[in-house]
Amino acid sequence: MDYREEILKLKKEKNAVIMCHYYNSGDLQDIADMVGDSLALARYAAEASADIIVVVGVNFMAETAKMLSPSKKVLVPDNNAGCSLADSCKEAEFKEFLAQHPDHIVISYVNTTAEIKALTDVVVTSSNAKKIVESFPKDQKIIFGPDYNLGCYLNKITGRDMLLWKGGCCVHEAFKVEKLKEYKQLYPNALVLTHPECKPEIVELSDYVGSTSGIINFAAQSDAKEFIIVTEHGVLHQMEKLCEGKKLIPLPINTAPKNTCRSMRLNTMEKLYLCLKNETPEITVPEDLMVKGLRPIERMLELSK
Ligand code: 13P
Ligand code: SF4
Repeated sequence: MDYREEILKLKKEKNAVIMCHYYNSGDLQDIADMVGDSLALARYAAEASADIIVVVGVNFMAETAKMLSPSKKVLVPDNNAGCSLADSCKEAEFKEFLAQHPDHIVISYVNTTAEIKALTDVVVTSSNAKKIVESFPKDQKIIFGPDYNLGCYLNKITGRDMLLWKGGCCVHEAFKVEKLKEYKQLYPNALVLTHPECKPEIVELSDYVGSTSGIINFAAQSDAKEFIIVTEHGVLHQMEKLCEGKKLIPLPINTAPKNTCRSMRLNTMEKLYLCLKNETPEITVPEDLMVKGLRPIERMLELSK
């Protein structure tokens, strides 16, 4: 079956839009109405006018889309696509942590469940985190979670001392500083472009630190000719289109030359076709979380205008 043709047909028939994160395979990125980082996906969901939104990403992205577009049917190709980072912050433990620090406000990375968002004052993504943290007075006590590495990076660049939850992403934590040092020697002219979910010792050796779209745009606009890419391999699909004549070098991890997010890679063209055809799996969010979880997301969109 030609999945591409069938998906396009169903999409039209059902007035659906497909949004896709950069960590998916190239075929999925190429069929989507929009491809973006977490912030761009949230913005797109907030403005979508279709009847159905298909989120080709992981579940927290679909939950965010549902909260921002409650009247739309939100579908995902595979509802087993969780996120190791979101899983590293469980509601009961996070509540306990917050109870120990009642004078702190809570800033949460978007990679969280709806339950954690409901306990949060403002959500951030890696695209707008610095700006949003800096929008609070210097003496404001802040809890930041769940990504410890991103929290360390934000503390460093904003001069804050936010209290950090010790969660992490198994994909970005797999990158090793020894491998990066080896690659910097192999490619002495290459600039190192890194996602802030990587460990501080990797961030330290990087020339640019930013979100997936930040990394893609930096490489596209830079005059440099070689880049070592320290994030999930999927970003290379768009980079290859935008960086003709430039050498893109994904940093390998111990076990594989390509570091991929297993959850994102559960998504396939076949599952996308089936989800549009059968209108399942659908992502829903309980009523109370819809209201409480939406507030900090809307605040983020407001603050990052
Ligand atoms: P971005 O917001 O940079 O796209 O990152 C999302 C993510 O899941 C990173 O692991
Ligand atoms: Fe979650 Fe990491 Fe996958 Fe991003 S790369 S979706 S943080 S598991």
